[in-house]
Amino acid sequence: MTSTNRSVAIIGAGQTGISAAVGFLNAGFDVTVYSERDQQSLFRDIPATGTAVTFGLSQQSETALGVDNFLGRAPQVTGISARTITGSGHDYAELLDFDADFPGWEAVGVDTRLKVDERLTQFLEKGGRFIVENVDPDRLDSIAGANDLTFVATGKAGLSGLFSVDESRSPYQSPQRSVLLVTVAGLGHGDDVFAHRSPAGGKHQAFNFADHGEGWWGPYLHKDAGPSWSFLGWAQPGSEWERRFRSVTDAHSAHKVVIDLHREYFDWDLPEVLSTRVIEEDPHSWIQGAVRPVVRKALGHTASGHRVVALGDTAVSYDPITGQGAQSGFIQAAQFLAAAKNHDGEFDDAWITGTYDKFLTSRVDAANLATRIFLRDPLFAEYASVLFPAAATDPKFGSALFGLLSDPSPVLSINSVDDAKSLIKQVTGEDANSILAKFAPAGRFSRSQYKALEPAV
Ligand SMILES: Cc1cc2nc3c(=O)[nH]c(=O)nc-3n(C[C@H](O)[C@H](O)[C@H](O)COP(=O)(O)OP(=O)(O)OC[C@H]3O[C@@H](n4cnc5c(N)ncnc54)[C@H](O)[C@@H]3O)c2cc1C
Repeated sequence: MTSTNRSVAIIGAGQTGISAAVGFLNAGFDVTVYSERDQQSLFRDIPATGTAVTFGLSQQSETALGVDNFLGRAPQVTGISARTITGSGHDYAELLDFDADFPGWEAVGVDTRLKVDERLTQFLEKGGRFIVENVDPDRLDSIAGANDLTFVATGKAGLSGLFSVDESRSPYQSPQRSVLLVTVAGLGHGDDVFAHRSPAGGKHQAFNFADHGEGWWGPYLHKDAGPSWSFLGWAQPGSEWERRFRSVTDAHSAHKVVIDLHREYFDWDLPEVLSTRVIEEDPHSWIQGAVRPVVRKALGHTASGHRVVALGDTAVSYDPITGQGAQSGFIQAAQFLAAAKNHDGEFDDAWITGTYDKFLTSRVDAANLATRIFLRDPLFAEYASVLFPAAATDPKFGSALFGLLSDPSPVLSINSVDDAKSLIKQVTGEDANSILAKFAPAGRFSRSQYKALEPAV
């Protein structure tokens, strides 16, 4: 480890803060992390912040920070199977059905508490300073005054209010969905799991899109149960699904809501869902809430005028439909680390805003647009109505569509339906209209024949 004689303070030991801390420590900075919880409490007393799946590219940022990205350790995810229904109430048509491999990379879903625990141990073993303290704005003022660079990585809430909202990049005044997340055991990852959706079986995530909201299953590594599955549901504001999500009070009631949702809307996946069971050893295996997608300015100032930098969810929070939040945090941390290593002078306003602007234009703008398309925001619904049928018709484009979860930048070329068609042609080599002409509604989806070896209790 080389010394740069420069000090970095990081407030918040979520997965972004602690991963950045390891990176800066490895690069020779003198690093102090301030966390409102001790290591044991971070592991035991709180839920995971989200499913935090990393898709391809962001795993390279974890590597650049010097932390293990869990490839080869968490259940392997090689693609997504997607199904779309349309209609109101229980009267719906089974419309789109396609299964796509990711284009040349794998995804992994790892419990954020496990990542934090491992990375905090790594940080401490390398000589990092860890202070358990709930940092308030006054304390932040003195910390920022005593360090060359201070990051605030306290999540969506925490100290995020210190950073003004970038209104031009934050079009929503409220969350676009209510979300319900629950992690469960009892279902493996073999070829027999979700076999009705994909020959890859339990190596593919399973996505269902409906007019009321969306449901998603993904292989997961849980801190206590090990290989497991996460369910993530999104409910349209004001919908019946939202009422159900809000009724959840614990893991068992979350599990029941998920089972009922599949009984009524997604019965093709029901045998798999019925074989899952609550992870009893973790009372925090679920979360329910909503995220307002917001982009903040990274540069903030404390009462005495010291500079602080927003990092991770404190800087940008996304609706999780395209799994961008955790990935964005790692990418931002790696970009700031690379820029800091190459910078000799003061970390002044110009350096902070310049580094952040590059991050916004190289990642955040595209990640937000891809998220809006997947949310079927009315402004972009026309693009989705071309992109999804093309994905269902042409496997190459299906792969490219889910490739956006790793690298969303191709969406920046889309400003019209014609642009969307050009992207389809660019990927497939075939005229988009001729691909779309081949599209036929799915009719009736194949149903699961899955039989659990041992029925769930
Ligand atoms: C349902 C759901 C699903 C998701 N799925 C995905 C996905 O598949 N892929 C993906 O990339 N992203 C996903 N995300 C987003 C992802 O989970 C988050 O972006 C990421 O975990 C945020 O990490 P963070 O470290 O920035 O913030 P946090 O995890 O919120 O960490 C903040 C830390 O700061 C500490 N803290 C707060 N205030 C203070 C204070 N005043 N002083 C000291 N410490 C403080 C907290 O205790 C906490 O430990 C999902 C989010 C949700 C809600």
